[in-house]
Amino acid sequence: MLSFDPDDARYLSELAEFVGVPRVSRDATAGTMRAAAQWLAGQLRFAGGRVVRTDGHPVVLGEWLGAAGAPTILVYGHYDVQPTGELAEWNTPPFELTVDGDVIRGRGTTDDKGPVYIVLKTAQAFAGQEGGLPLNVKFLFEGEEEIGSPNLPAFLRRHAGELAADLVVSADGAMWRPTEPSVALASKGLVTLDVRVEGANTDLHSGRYGGRSRIRCMSSARSWPACTIATGPSPCLASTTGSRRSRRLAAGSWPPSPFLNRNTWATSG
Ligand SMILES: [Zn+2]
Repeated sequence: MLSFDPDDARYLSELAEFVGVPRVSRDATAGTMRAAAQWLAGQLRFAGGRVVRTDGHPVVLGEWLGAAGAPTILVYGHYDVQPTGELAEWNTPPFELTVDGDVIRGRGTTDDKGPVYIVLKTAQAFAGQEGGLPLNVKFLFEGEEEIGSPNLPAFLRRHAGELAADLVVSADGAMWRPTEPSVALASKGLVTLDVRVEGANTDLHSGRYGGRSRIRCMSSARSWPACTIATGPSPCLASTTGSRRSRRLAAGSWPPSPFLNRNTWATSG
């Protein structure tokens, strides 16, 4: 059974150190981000923690692989934070950890310094009190999550063998509410889309078209990627330009949509 210091003071002072480095990935200096990475690597001393260069802000790696035959998990987290915005709008300084009853304030305290800190302290407690961890654990903490991780894919490709694991656990999640922890399973990754919707270039009689032409575009976007590519030909536009006949021809080439009644479309014009 692990035990943790019942006096929170040490944890809070360490978390205050972690929060105190203004590591806003968008505009922090390389030296600031490196200092932040080195702080983390120091916390991973039991796991060979080290700062590894990327083409951007460095990554912190570590691994403890002493549990022979046990699965290996990779713990992901990030040490950068979002910009602060207007300082005048903060009730307390963003990079100064402030304890207010049960609430702890400070930029990144919940995203993602606090969650990473919990992982570090739990792993350290196992290493210190049990002599080792029950699983093999690899650690990967990046410094560019808040700017879209521009250098992480290439880093992962270069270090794929070193980072191989049976399971990835992200220490960058959310709790539904303060009294209800949550675990999100089977994340598939992150996909972002720019959805460009083009309307008709001429008046469409409401009694004949209603909102249908726009509905057609949106409902088909799921199965026709071209509809979402801003620079490519737009089937949305093709369906609303030209003669009525060409519109119908265009409609005939569209993939089936569960939201579109073709018969209704054909007879409503
Ligand atoms: Zn995060």
